[in-house]
Amino acid sequence: MHEASIILNVLDIAEQHCSKNGFEKIDSIKLRIGKASGVMLDALYFAFKAARIDTPASGAVLDIMEIPVGGHCNACKKGFSVEERYVFACPLCGSGDFVVTNGRELDIVELEVS
Ligand SMILES: [Zn+2]
Repeated sequence: MHEASIILNVLDIAEQHCSKNGFEKIDSIKLRIGKASGVMLDALYFAFKAARIDTPASGAVLDIMEIPVGGHCNACKKGFSVEERYVFACPLCGSGDFVVTNGRELDIVELEVS
């Protein structure tokens, strides 16, 4: 499962950050996930609950910030942002000549440790 490997990776980074700085416990992990990243949030929360057992993050809160999909159209030269996961045409002029500039993010933005 894609989401499980993402979570293991995130926990790994969080644990390294935690021990490197002399902390023992991870209190919260804040992620920024783009809607076009293909990540299913329900599956991600589920994987997190299973993966955090017996780790310094066993009591941690997972906080996910969703980033809308945004792009820049080469036809009308405007930027746009949509609520859907996929963009097939510029919502402003209907052109297919655009680039996706936001929405594929998958970053850890904040870690709270103690
Ligand atoms: Zn356009």
